[in-house]
Amino acid sequence: MRAFYHPDQARHAPQQYMRFGRLVPVKDLPVRTERLLGTLARHGIAPEPPAALGTAPALAVHTPAFLRFLETAWERWTRLPDHGPEVWPNTFPYWSGRPEDPARPDCPAGGLVGQAGWYLGDLSVPLGPDSWGSILRSSETAASAADAVLAGARAVYALCRPSGHHARADRASGFCYLNNTAIAAQRLRGRFGRIAVVDVDAHHGDGTQQIFYGRADVLTVSIHADPDDYYPFYTGRPEETGHGAGLGFNLNLPLPHGAGGDAMLAALDTAAARVAGFGAEVLVVALGYDAHRDDPIGVLGLGTEDFGAVGRRLGAMGLPTLVVQEGGYAVDAIGGCLDAFLSGFDEGARR
Ligand SMILES: [Zn+2]
Repeated sequence: MRAFYHPDQARHAPQQYMRFGRLVPVKDLPVRTERLLGTLARHGIAPEPPAALGTAPALAVHTPAFLRFLETAWERWTRLPDHGPEVWPNTFPYWSGRPEDPARPDCPAGGLVGQAGWYLGDLSVPLGPDSWGSILRSSETAASAADAVLAGARAVYALCRPSGHHARADRASGFCYLNNTAIAAQRLRGRFGRIAVVDVDAHHGDGTQQIFYGRADVLTVSIHADPDDYYPFYTGRPEETGHGAGLGFNLNLPLPHGAGGDAMLAALDTAAARVAGFGAEVLVVALGYDAHRDDPIGVLGLGTEDFGAVGRRLGAMGLPTLVVQEGGYAVDAIGGCLDAFLSGFDEGARR
């Protein structure tokens, strides 16, 4: 497997995060990438730096106004009197909650504080001085990995950080700013007619769902913990199956809290049958490790070895595959999860 990563992606160092009414230390620590890089080294995989593609790949799925906000927010923030350490909204505009809504109109407010509420969907996506650089590099890593698949690579891993699958066309949320998985999937349309996205992060891939919700060329499948009492709360239910031309091309497979490897693998079998029925030509895997039982914000019960079985099932689909790194916050477990996944994937793909 080839891999892509840029060291700038470790520079984004968020300071604060709101959970259960308290400011707590963030979970997306730069050390996460060190652990994952260590695993790649043990597999003899040297990550390649992404090409300097700029914002073009992200603009294929995000609105220009949203990107302009992300790029300029920190500099504008520093001009506010008595500003805090990071860009954080103090207002949240009403959103319909309907997954079929594509991007909203551009934020009607010209000022930064109003725009922060419009474009930052919750209190887990602060922007600091180095955030934009990491966000952009992370998207370039996904796009470069897609380019490698377009050029004929069978399996490529994009070590993205920050993560992306909660980012909508025009909104950051859930530690995610630009939707790397969606950026990669969209780029693969350059050669492939039918793209399948399978998201095994413990959280519903709501941003990816929204971006492709009205489209029949990208099948989005998400396996995640029941969102009734778990982030992202408002989407991720089985009855969300797509909209308009995309009706029937979104599949949500929520798992009960506490579910372990068996439930995940049963859902993956359902996902694999759907991907095969769709006639997918290429697979994008949104890979998180927060289904691990040690995850500090997790509610599922997978063990490290279960990620090997997940990799085997995905490798056995027999498709060119782009694996995009999403969440996973048990710093001492994630290196082992990637290790098991890579070994399992190779095994499944060889069969
Ligand atoms: Zn997650």
